[in-house]
Amino acid sequence: MKTAIITGASRGIGRAIARSLAELGCDLFLTGRNEEELYKTRELILSQPGAKTDNKIVIYPRDLTELESIDNLFVAFEKSFNNLDILVNNAGIAYSRVFGEYNIDDWNRVMNINARAPFFLMQKAVPFLEKADPGFIINICSVVSQKGYAEQSLYTASKHALYGITKAVAKDLQNKNIRVHAILPGGVDTDMVKAVRPDIDTSEMITPEEIAETITFLLKMNGNAVIDEISIRRKTKLPWA
Ligand code: NAD
Repeated sequence: MKTAIITGASRGIGRAIARSLAELGCDLFLTGRNEEELYKTRELILSQPGAKTDNKIVIYPRDLTELESIDNLFVAFEKSFNNLDILVNNAGIAYSRVFGEYNIDDWNRVMNINARAPFFLMQKAVPFLEKADPGFIINICSVVSQKGYAEQSLYTASKHALYGITKAVAKDLQNKNIRVHAILPGGVDTDMVKAVRPDIDTSEMITPEEIAETITFLLKMNGNAVIDEISIRRKTKLPWA
């Protein structure tokens, strides 16, 4: 049985990833800030058609901007699981604000969850993942990992950082048989994007399930080919723009 840690699994993209990995038969260690919503993710998985009722699902509600939550996460993980195959760094926040209005607290909050937490979670996960065959790290970056959108300077900084970390760590961990992937979505229909980009018509947005499908695709690749990153745009956006 494969085991996955998914951060930000209490809603949005993380919840969809949790549901699709459960369908693949994975046992899950789910983190996020909202305990009630994490339990809802668990309930949704266990009640979904074709549910594998033997999926073991452990909930770990914590704020991952606190470094001790990251240390304690792996202590809690080891109490329930012997092996780790997949780490999905999905938890994140976004602000949309004119450049002059950001302050140092905003900087710390955004960078700590979007870049620092994935960095140290990857580091702590390596001793487990190097025993998997192969180990997977999936980092949910963004189209703004490669672009810059107005009023998203701080979010853009954090997602450029995560993308850069992903590329470097992929090289560091190749000899440990750990694959490190970047997913770069455009607008996905979640609470986050509704708050940050109320201008986008939700009917045009990518669904969280479509993002989850790309991860399933990566996890199923067991031949000689590896895809390092996947960029996903809304179909109404200009290709390659
Ligand atoms: P969301 O706001 O619906 O969910 C975010 C999740 O992250 C929640 O489970 C929340 O509990 C968790 N989280 C946030 N701060 C946390 C903290 N300090 N500690 C622990 N958990 C925390 O957002 P979403 O749209 O599902 O976004 C998921 C990821 O996808 C984020 O990294 C986001 O940047 C990225 N992304 C989203 C979009 C989009 O359009 N929605 C596009 C590109 C990338």
